[in-house]
Amino acid sequence: MNKIKLVGLDLDGTITQHKTKLEEKNKRVLQEICRKYKAVIVAAGACQRVFEQLNRFKINIIGNYGMQEAEVIESAGSNQIKLVKDITVHKNRAEITDKIERLRKMTGYLGYQGDTVEFHQSGAITFPLLGTKAKLEDKLSFDPNRLKRREIYHLVKNEFSDDTVFIGGTSSFDIVPKEFNKYTALMNYAEKYGVKENEIVYFGDDYGLGGNDEHVYQSKIKFVKVDDYLMLKECVEALIC
Ligand SMILES: [Mg+2]
Repeated sequence: MNKIKLVGLDLDGTITQHKTKLEEKNKRVLQEICRKYKAVIVAAGACQRVFEQLNRFKINIIGNYGMQEAEVIESAGSNQIKLVKDITVHKNRAEITDKIERLRKMTGYLGYQGDTVEFHQSGAITFPLLGTKAKLEDKLSFDPNRLKRREIYHLVKNEFSDDTVFIGGTSSFDIVPKEFNKYTALMNYAEKYGVKENEIVYFGDDYGLGGNDEHVYQSKIKFVKVDDYLMLKECVEALIC
């Protein structure tokens, strides 16, 4: 660990429960990391959402698989977020909705709460199997081992073959333009600071097939598996002791 110059961290499932505010214990872990290293969050969600989820913690954020990047700076006694990269792609929403409906028919996930698909400002898409308004507890218990989504992963990939499809969050698929993934995003970020691949360590929970950390896991970046965000402190120990 002594040549590490950059620490990358996934958010949901690694530092916090999914889409849930940062807890005190892991806040202290993050503070320790940031005190010793350059660190960045590499998230599937948008930077603003990540910033709020972390209670406006002072750490830079790569959002939407690299489509967004934000610096968090201290100004007048409070932390402010400043987007330094914000790529938008234009997608044909009607065409995407048709694809989602086709997939629902194919897979039997016909009932959902709220909307059938979520369009992010960047052009990234989330296909929430339970709908955009499903309750968090239903989402958390839906597919904790990701097996239900792995079973239909190939169908979603096939329908969105021009994009990269991730098994995201708790009960959804994230669909982003082909060139975006956490590995490429983290390497682009590292390059800006002159950090090499073997000088990065990454903490993530979603390293399996189709997982949103899989590209990083398959690379030469040192990967620390965090299978339970409540164990983050233990996982980080070698780095901060
Ligand atoms: Mg995660």
